Amino acid sequence: MSATSGELRIVNPANEQTIATMPPAGLEEADEAIARAAAAGPAWRAVSPGDRARLLRRFAEAVDGAIEELAALEVANAGHTIANARWEAGNVRDVLAYYAGAPERHSGRQIPVTGGVDLTFYEPLGVVGIIVPWNFPMPIASWGLGPALAAGNTVVLKPAELTPLTAVRLAELALEAGIPEGVFEVVVGPGSVVGWRLVTHPAVRKVCFTGSTSVGKAIMAGCAEQVKRVTLELGGKSANVVFADADLERAAATAPYAAFDNAGQDCCARSRILVEESVYERFMELLESAVKNVVVGAPTDPSSEMGPLISADQRDVVAGYVDGSTVAFRGNAPEGPGFWYPPTVLAPVGRDETAWREEIFGPVVAVVPFEDEADAIQLANDTEYGLSGSLWTRDIGRALRVSRALETGALSVNSHSSVRYWTPFGGFKQSGLGRELGPDALHGFSELKNVFISTEG
Ligand code: NAD
Repeated sequence: MSATSGELRIVNPANEQTIATMPPAGLEEADEAIARAAAAGPAWRAVSPGDRARLLRRFAEAVDGAIEELAALEVANAGHTIANARWEAGNVRDVLAYYAGAPERHSGRQIPVTGGVDLTFYEPLGVVGIIVPWNFPMPIASWGLGPALAAGNTVVLKPAELTPLTAVRLAELALEAGIPEGVFEVVVGPGSVVGWRLVTHPAVRKVCFTGSTSVGKAIMAGCAEQVKRVTLELGGKSANVVFADADLERAAATAPYAAFDNAGQDCCARSRILVEESVYERFMELLESAVKNVVVGAPTDPSSEMGPLISADQRDVVAGYVDGSTVAFRGNAPEGPGFWYPPTVLAPVGRDETAWREEIFGPVVAVVPFEDEADAIQLANDTEYGLSGSLWTRDIGRALRVSRALETGALSVNSHSSVRYWTPFGGFKQSGLGRELGPDALHGFSELKNVFISTEG
């Protein structure tokens, strides 16, 4: 994206060609969208639970009918591999379908009291602002959108300037499915203007932010001004802990995909590999052949496992982290146009080195040996982040002990599972605040009201 000409220029990161231009929205357009969403609120919350559920199911079906179209847009706009992009569009459908089951079940309680009846109700918040980063434009949009709409809120969504195309199409599909005008608005414009307006506008009652920790902190501080509800899904530097008793072949074969999926532009990337000293050499041998086998190529090719980075700027950031570190080995990347960067393994790496401590957000993983279980836990937790992680061991006691000891929100044992929409997701420490997805997500989009009705007199 470039805004120098006054237009947003949307670029295909695999070949650097401009695929679309659009005028960026400013403050006025943001205010108009918020006003439309606020105006649509009363009618939307009055839609009966069954009808709201039906409309969300129809929205899910409309997305299902557009999977190939949405996937092709993301391949062109974000450089995602076609296999990943199909999964992402399917994830939007599934999130909408899952939360379509929620409106009729979003019930309060009747609590025993004397002298009357006590009831609780879940009330919608009003307008919810959803701010989305460029790395997973579709799923992240839907993780806020599905439960927010199901709970009776209206939504203004701001996609990242680099990747707005699927969000714009999703808003059209919502209308085609019968979701009323104003219930789901998309505004494409700069974060500092349109995104920030969602923070400062008093009609927006909650901000769901996914992005960098630095912007997330500013958003949290801004929301404090109005005691505005806020959910933050921020950065990560997750650990992949490999114990000596693990299935080393499997751990090594899967480690590249846990770090390099989406070219490493994944908040859940297991970008720190911790290996028990006694098996370090063997693990590195296995890892080298696995890394060299990662298929990096045209995102449109169904056999591609990794595409380009999102932009030239992002490639510079990634290269900056690698300069000055020791590269143990690398995979391949195409030559020529496109923001390509090869899968890269850093080792040996010092425990205080920047590349070990900071989120790189590119296909770079660092490997450090550890002595024993206590050292592994200390090393894994020695970070300001705590989003995801994996651990590999055949010892079930250790698997449970270490799972409980790791300060992280989403952990996989003997796997690197991706986020499941029916289980909760979110970070410890500076990786975030609040949880998305899972059976309780509507609580984050509702105010709990208590009503006492006297039966006396
Ligand atoms: P970013 O913070 O630069 O931008 C994210 C979004 O915020 C964009 O839409 C941007 O326009 C908007 N924005 C920027 N400045 C703003 C401001 N002052 N006010 C309001 N909105 C503003 O992040 P990015 O570079 O797009 O994404 C990468 C980051 O996102 C990484 O740190 C990654 O770890 C994180 N991320 C986290 C999760 C998670 O679930 N925890 C998921 C994906 C990405």
